[in-house]
Amino acid sequence: GQLVNQIAAGEVVERPASVAKELLENSLDAGADRIEIDVEAGGARVIRIRDNGVGIPREELALALQRHATSKIGSLAELERVASLGFRGEALPSIASVSRLTLTSRARGETHAWSATCQGDDIDVSPAPHPEGTTVEVRDLFFNTPARRKFMRTERTEYTHLLEMVRRLAMARFDVGLTLRHNGRATLQLPPAALQEERERRLARLLGDGFVEHALGVDVEASGLSVRGWMGLPTFSRSQADLQYLYVNGRMVRDRTAVHAIRRAYQDVLFKDRYPAYVLYIDVDPAQVDVNVHPAKHEVRFRDGRLIHDFLSRHLRQVLEGVRPEPGMESALRPQ
Ligand code: ADP
Ligand code: MG
Repeated sequence: GQLVNQIAAGEVVERPASVAKELLENSLDAGADRIEIDVEAGGARVIRIRDNGVGIPREELALALQRHATSKIGSLAELERVASLGFRGEALPSIASVSRLTLTSRARGETHAWSATCQGDDIDVSPAPHPEGTTVEVRDLFFNTPARRKFMRTERTEYTHLLEMVRRLAMARFDVGLTLRHNGRATLQLPPAALQEERERRLARLLGDGFVEHALGVDVEASGLSVRGWMGLPTFSRSQADLQYLYVNGRMVRDRTAVHAIRRAYQDVLFKDRYPAYVLYIDVDPAQVDVNVHPAKHEVRFRDGRLIHDFLSRHLRQVLEGVRPEPGMESALRPQ
């Protein structure tokens, strides 16, 4: 039990931010639209995530802490068309094997809540107070794996990683209210954002006012593909290399094909030697992307990369060509 889980933990649990990411994805999979994240000491001491999702019935609590107990996938064929974020059934047992984990939940419609903790290879379940939804508390990450613990950086660095992860998620799910507290202090309080105006307010809180104020809205749909979001314009002066957020089917990803296409459009139309800032959402038929490239799931593989590349560079070019240089803008616009 424990050893296999600790080995698996090596794949998904690198640091506090990756733990929090797995837990948040579970909350989203459970349909939560309010999530509270409490962190102490950069996440090394405590990561506590409370959601208002469907919860876990008592008889499934212990199961959730056991390996490959995913409730999300019935067959290999389903793996091909994965809709939920988590599908491996190993995050919770892996995290539990390298921390002191408590899983507390009240299933929707139930009157009682229960709490599960690991005691070695046994799992103890007892009554606990909790509203509908789930709280996962992870204490003392890597307390029993000194080699791993050694790789953790300072509180500040770990917290920075965690905050960045929450930021990415907050831009993926405007419909979900999120709060983040570090050492008892609220750092993010984001109400659900449905209207464009509310979304932009959230964006401003996450990225600073400058980006949104000078961003160009993108909203293109053609031949079964779409790209939406914001592209920063030249008056926006913050270093742009670190403000590139790309989502494919709701998932934040790194993808060289798409990144290249976006940059090409920007550099061809506006500035040859600058990097664009953007928050862009690409949606494609799920059958056209492979998300199972790595357990951490940062990468996608497009079945037809060329199609995506052409779609992005062509349509973003059109959007950017509509931009008129204004007096405040830098004068490096390419002569037409
Ligand atoms: P996976 O997400 O791949 O299914 P996990 O180890 O992350 O595997 O979670 C195991 C199971 O525990 C999930 O399939 C789900 O049934 C349950 N679970 C975990 N977190 C939550 C949550 N926040 N709300 C409801 N159910 C949860
Ligand atoms: Mg999961």
